Amino acid sequence: MLKEGNNKVDEMKEKLFINRKNGVLKLDERQIEKADEFCEDYKKFLNNVKTEREAVSYVIELATQAGFEEFDINKKYNPGAKIYYVNRDKSIITAIIGRKGTKEGIKIAVAHIDSPRLDLKPNPLYEKSELALLKTHYYGGIKKYQWTTIPLSLHGVIVKKDGTLIKVCIGEDESDPVFCVTDLLPHLAKEQMAKTMQKGIEGEKLNVLVGSRPFKSDEGSELVKLNIMKILNEKYGIVESDFISAELELVPSFPARDLGLDRSMIGSYGHDDRVCAYPALKAMLDFEGVPENTILTILADKEETGSDGNTGMNSSFFRYFIADLANMDGEHYRHVLSKSKCLSADVNAAFDPTYSEQYEDNNSCYINQGAVITKYTGSGGKYSTSDACAEFMAYIRNYLEEEGILWQTGELGKVDAGGGGTIARYMANLNVDVVDLGVPVLSMHAPFEIVSKIDVYMTYRAVKSFFKIK
Ligand code: MN
Ligand code: MN
Repeated sequence: MLKEGNNKVDEMKEKLFINRKNGVLKLDERQIEKADEFCEDYKKFLNNVKTEREAVSYVIELATQAGFEEFDINKKYNPGAKIYYVNRDKSIITAIIGRKGTKEGIKIAVAHIDSPRLDLKPNPLYEKSELALLKTHYYGGIKKYQWTTIPLSLHGVIVKKDGTLIKVCIGEDESDPVFCVTDLLPHLAKEQMAKTMQKGIEGEKLNVLVGSRPFKSDEGSELVKLNIMKILNEKYGIVESDFISAELELVPSFPARDLGLDRSMIGSYGHDDRVCAYPALKAMLDFEGVPENTILTILADKEETGSDGNTGMNSSFFRYFIADLANMDGEHYRHVLSKSKCLSADVNAAFDPTYSEQYEDNNSCYINQGAVITKYTGSGGKYSTSDACAEFMAYIRNYLEEEGILWQTGELGKVDAGGGGTIARYMANLNVDVVDLGVPVLSMHAPFEIVSKIDVYMTYRAVKSFFKIK
């Protein structure tokens, strides 16, 4: 029964209401220090890894240092064995074999390592009015106007006909040149400014400036393009047709920075979803001892374009890998999946006071309130999403509270404001219990996204505990 007293209302509220006190005030100083420390390494990850391929090579390095070895289907793995499995250099699974193996299901954390960006078209290089430019095709959901007049770097691979793979990374080192999409000056933008923001910058206007000096010759045309091709040929040994077998991505060239006078936040390109991929990976690498059930961290490609394709989570590569693990234990993979639990580690839209009209304040997530649990995403009448079972939600909130992890819930904006999806539904469609858990982000999908250091750390702790608990 509730106690009588002078502060009866306050007491009742404390007992009956959700505690909405600022997350920072709920934490002791040590937790905040640990969050700040954790984020120093996270910033290194952000600055070393800007594409899915770079993420995979970096993760292989970290995993190898932590004693993980590449999965070999012909090997027998004992409890405690640490393995990784790479799919086409663009997605990677790390795992520790549990005491019970796959028999009672597995624990999965899945995040994605692709981010919105500008991809080069297969035939990108052209010259116009004596400037050399590259044609791009944007990847993922972007507000196109945000990608003009910012310094861009070029990352990716070129594979020559003979299979030789050339790694490209130009624009990250301070001595490197950078690239840029130009925009019209305001003085001449009367017509452009009258357009909607969707039409103000169109996809075919996202052309990237890469050169202006012609190859020295008194005759011939396309001399600026020729000069650029000459530079590329000298540097990489490529010819124009090699662009056809390349994956080249333009991303913001600036590094991650502390944000705010109190340094409480980080501004960076590509928090979505490296801000969950890194904590999910670290939770795996830092795992001590042998887990009860086999644990997996999946870092997937192609989430930003709907998870289709053979490196996305809607492909069979994940199922096949689970089948291989299950076979080793004499299990069928469908029984393993049906008993498995998954955290889909992805971001949610943090409440933005400047655009408060697009959020419903009771059901939004907030900077500094910890890891956000998103029961469902989707759009309209809960279309195209997984809606986590109440039973699974209870399991999740119980362990988060038991482990003293700062957490909150959030919907993606107001009903009918728009919507979006994550990997959760592809896991759910495999009959896995799954819910989204991740970091609130301000300015999501912009070239410079913002997160709170405390929320990043709490996401790490949430995944780490998830791997540990029953
Ligand atoms: Mn995401
Ligand atoms: Mn996204």
